[in-house]
Amino acid sequence: MFSSQSGAFRLFRFAGIDVNLHWTWFIAAWYFIGRGAGEYGSIAWNVAEYVSLFLIVLLHEFGHAFAARQVGGDSREIVLWPFGGIAFAKVPPRPGAELWAIVAGPLVNVVLYPVLYWTILLAVNLGWVDGNRDLQRFLGEVFRINVGLLIFNILPIYPLDGGQTLRALLWFKLGRALSLKVATIIGLVAIPAGALWLLSRDQLTLFTGMIAVFLGMECFRGFKQSGAIERVARLPRHTAFACPTCRERPPGGPYWACAKCGNGFDPFSTQAVCPHCTQPMEKIPCAFCASTHPVQGWSVTPPRRPGDPPVIEV
Ligand SMILES: [Zn+2]
Ligand SMILES: [Zn+2]
Ligand SMILES: [Zn+2]
Repeated sequence: MFSSQSGAFRLFRFAGIDVNLHWTWFIAAWYFIGRGAGEYGSIAWNVAEYVSLFLIVLLHEFGHAFAARQVGGDSREIVLWPFGGIAFAKVPPRPGAELWAIVAGPLVNVVLYPVLYWTILLAVNLGWVDGNRDLQRFLGEVFRINVGLLIFNILPIYPLDGGQTLRALLWFKLGRALSLKVATIIGLVAIPAGALWLLSRDQLTLFTGMIAVFLGMECFRGFKQSGAIERVARLPRHTAFACPTCRERPPGGPYWACAKCGNGFDPFSTQAVCPHCTQPMEKIPCAFCASTHPVQGWSVTPPRRPGDPPVIEV
């Protein structure tokens, strides 16, 4: 999907996480700030409001990123784009780990709720907003933005956080592939229904329409992914190897492509050497969690010695 390679540039780096801004952010900023012009005494307030929106989104994404690390995953990049942010995280494929990495995002908005509320109370009590209608309006808008983002994100529609939470909960009962299938089918029904509902209320704008299209595309991608997970899960497995990250046993077959000659081979039956061109595969990617490890890291039985009888272990 999106990455820093496609039209985003680095804003800053914090705790080993690159925060990148997608160029379309400026178009959206220009559109929103222009549209809201006149609401405040000065356009600077509109800019401040839009920047606040993205600070809240950023905190939300850091919530995801830090939670992903907490459960043994990794996160190195956050991309801010007009419809929000994306924290690129690798989470160990366990339902509990996924659940925490997802819930932590909206939880940031939950924590911000009283923080922003008390800020407003303080501003009122200290008399800062007396006669300052702009500040009064700004504080109210920031409060509403946070609530709006929270409500939107917890809608149980995949790939929104609410939909992914639903998926993680279903995972405990239905397994990895079927839970994703069920959650994405709900999304594929709910997204067009939501778009029609907006249309009936005359609120289907270019902006909401683009969000619906994006969500629909991501949902469909998730649906296809559930089929791929199912197919991989049905393949025969190597019994002598397991992924050090997710503990899944790798499928047996020529499913890994050689980086040099491009031919498919099974690194677990060739000591990670391509049988076509003898190029070694330094690190073997896991078919289930995408983490990569050298072949020795995958062994769950003592390494074989020369002269041992051949074992076919698929
Ligand atoms: Zn989120
Ligand atoms: Zn794995
Ligand atoms: Zn090769």
